[in-house]
Amino acid sequence: MPKMRAVQIPRPKGPFEIVEREIPEPTPGSVRIKVQACGICHSDSLTKEGMLPGIQYPRVPGHEVVGIVDAIGQGVARWKTGQRVGIGWHGGHCGYCDSCGRGDFFACQTSSLISGVSFDGGYADYMIAPAEAMASVPEELSVVEAAPLMCAGVTTFNCLRNSGARAGDVVAVLGLGGLGHLGVQFAAKMGFRTIGIARGKDKEPLANKLGAHHYIDSQSQDPAAELLKFGGAKVILATVTNAEAMSAACGGLSVNGVFMIIGAVPTMQIAPLQLLGGRQSVKGWYSGVAVDSQDTLSFSVLSGVRSMNEVYPIEQVTEAYERMMSGKARFRVVLTMGN
Ligand SMILES: [Zn+2]
Ligand SMILES: [Zn+2]
Repeated sequence: MPKMRAVQIPRPKGPFEIVEREIPEPTPGSVRIKVQACGICHSDSLTKEGMLPGIQYPRVPGHEVVGIVDAIGQGVARWKTGQRVGIGWHGGHCGYCDSCGRGDFFACQTSSLISGVSFDGGYADYMIAPAEAMASVPEELSVVEAAPLMCAGVTTFNCLRNSGARAGDVVAVLGLGGLGHLGVQFAAKMGFRTIGIARGKDKEPLANKLGAHHYIDSQSQDPAAELLKFGGAKVILATVTNAEAMSAACGGLSVNGVFMIIGAVPTMQIAPLQLLGGRQSVKGWYSGVAVDSQDTLSFSVLSGVRSMNEVYPIEQVTEAYERMMSGKARFRVVLTMGN
């Protein structure tokens, strides 16, 4: 049997192990992807540390996957071998439950699958992917460019385009890290008056380079007060994982403003009086399904939005993961397989 390399986590909190496995065959409704690149997302730590219930180990993480369709299971209509595809966090759905019937595939009630959590993900030479969860990847993007767009990209893009902001509205992006550096680019290219918010004056040139029209240094300035000087933000895209930083910005919403949360904090403080006085809301956002990823990729081709990446070969997965977890990566970390 032909073999492949896979990076598995043997048990919760266990180390990465690079092992040799048989190349898997696609099951009905699935395809096999020959993986070329896979981003390392902070959410991979959920698999690494065993923080989601029901994960079966050993498990191969990875949900920012880009590669080539290599083999096709029974009953798959859309895909052909040789096509460039990607798969993100959303790893499949049933298509017949009430949520799916309403088009809310992300909330599938019977089989809400997550790549690299419910089944083996992209830290490997090959992976098996449910056909309905795959996105077509345009030729204009390299595999390294496309990979981070499969999670960080679609999350920020899809959140912003569903936020209710319209061209010319003030949109603030809180945080300039892996998510935020994409959020600022998308917001500016969507035609919003884009304000970057981060800690320190030294991040201002980066914010400007990414397309922000204004910058707020939340260390030396009160971000809420500064936003109100612009009339308040119609949308604040909160990408940070710091609850205090979120609460500090929330007061900068405009009338009818929406505080959109994609940074996973366990709790945060809000001021209900402010919300009801300004008819404001706080909302969370799920990344998106396959067609949202396709839209993200094609908008990125159209507008020139690109993730800034640090690239590591699969053999250096431990170092690459630690780099991501350190928070020092600028800005996404991507594994390449050499395929
Ligand atoms: Zn992710
Ligand atoms: Zn369903």
